[in-house]
Amino acid sequence: MEEVAGGGSSWPYAKKPQQHQLGRSLTYHHPYQGQGRRLQPAQRHQLPDVRAPRPAVVLYTTSLRGVRRTFTDCSAVRAVLRGFRVAVDERDLSMDAALRRELQGLLAARGRAFSLPQLFVGGRLVGGAEEARQLHEAGELRRLLEGAAGQDPAFVCDACGGVRFVPCPACAGSRKVFVEEEGRTSCCGHCNENGLVRCPACSS
Ligand SMILES: [Zn+2]
Ligand SMILES: [Zn+2]
Repeated sequence: MEEVAGGGSSWPYAKKPQQHQLGRSLTYHHPYQGQGRRLQPAQRHQLPDVRAPRPAVVLYTTSLRGVRRTFTDCSAVRAVLRGFRVAVDERDLSMDAALRRELQGLLAARGRAFSLPQLFVGGRLVGGAEEARQLHEAGELRRLLEGAAGQDPAFVCDACGGVRFVPCPACAGSRKVFVEEEGRTSCCGHCNENGLVRCPACSS
């Protein structure tokens, strides 16, 4: 009895601490540290890398402070994503009316009312600030962001200063270009209503 019990308990005992350490590191440590360990991800990446590119993290926001709640919700989701150190394609609707139409279309196709912010991961709608908060607290957000491209949260794009837009190179932001053949100025067809184009260095 003693030999069986002793022999039986020594194996699980040797294994358990490893399982506990792994479990704790994934559960309680900062997600970046979990990625940095590269224990399982190195193996897992073989499959997702072939089948699909890294899931794009797209956050629709506004930098206008018109509605305080909306502004603070945008800031909150942005801060959570920074905590995960993932690269975020932030699309500020106040910079470009086309982005508003883009988001309206995406939400309408899903039967959702328009609101900001809205988070998409890998083309899938995660939701607004409340949904992101709940997923984060449940530990689900980290799983959704698995495999997303990483980025130092302190990174600031040199080309646009983090604004994600730059003045249109064709019209220098004036929205008017001189058409030599016609000898007159014409509306610039390259930029948006603000004379801006998406930053070629950091935005697609
Ligand atoms: Zn940029
Ligand atoms: Zn232009």
